[in-house]
Amino acid sequence: MAEAPKERWVVETLYEKEGFTCSFRADEVRYEEETGQQHLVIFDNALFGRMMALDGITQVTERDEFIYHEMMTHVPILAHGRVKNVLIIGGGDGGILREVVRHKSVGHVTMVEIDPAVTDFCKKHLPGISAGAFDDPRLDLVFADGAKFVEETDRKFDVIIVDSTDPVGPGEVLFREEFYRAAASCLTPGGVIVTQNGVPFMQGAELAGTIEKFRRIFKVASCYLATIPTYVGGPMAMGWGTDDETLKSVPLAELESRFAAAGFSTRYYTPEVHKAAFALPRYVLDIVEV
Ligand code: SAM
Repeated sequence: MAEAPKERWVVETLYEKEGFTCSFRADEVRYEEETGQQHLVIFDNALFGRMMALDGITQVTERDEFIYHEMMTHVPILAHGRVKNVLIIGGGDGGILREVVRHKSVGHVTMVEIDPAVTDFCKKHLPGISAGAFDDPRLDLVFADGAKFVEETDRKFDVIIVDSTDPVGPGEVLFREEFYRAAASCLTPGGVIVTQNGVPFMQGAELAGTIEKFRRIFKVASCYLATIPTYVGGPMAMGWGTDDETLKSVPLAELESRFAAAGFSTRYYTPEVHKAAFALPRYVLDIVEV
């Protein structure tokens, strides 16, 4: 009798060195390729829907991507309140871009992604993540290394969103001080940069590294939290760097009126969640406040 086809499980390798992995059954592999920058696989999983992993690290899943993309985008834009120009570094799947272009007040979005293969294949195999945002006339899509872009550009941005991979492979340069300094020089006065800084319970050193560098560059170096089920190990930290001390504590009533004026609905973000996201548990404060 013919053997049943062997199940394929995609292993999350982010914490392999520390002795922890988890895995997702690949009910159907939609695409897999060594893109020249990184290994890319897009597959269907019964619980999380369609997923993408880069170099064995979960990047995005259809089921929980809204949490990360809403919190990385609406917190800085609504805290700032007068955003005209946004820079996205990375973000190849288009989820951040989708949330940015929902803000009609945003006049221009520059997105700098190092690997066109990610954008191509996400548009084809994960179209729901970008949901047509790549066609937005306000977008300037640049295929380049984000670290080089911020060194060379003379453009200025009110918000910079670093939706990078983890500090492995091409993403490693996006965690260096020279990148943060060059990005800071691209911010308008009172602008803010937010960074994907992993799960502090599992990757505390990553957040500590960013905060230590931010402290040498910005008046405010902190983070806020959101819990994304497939970024295992507890809440994820989003690094926060700005010279405007008021941005972290915009009154709830003001956030509520800005969110109402933005005129769109969300599935995770609310003004109350925005405020609460900056209430850090002791073990994260111990990283941020040293
Ligand atoms: N949401 C995911 C997360 O939280 O880990 C990350 C999303 S997105 C897939 C990460 C993107 O960063 C990828 O498309 C990758 O190609 C891009 N990337 C990595 N290094 C980069 C660099 N130096 N410059 C620009 N984009 C980069």
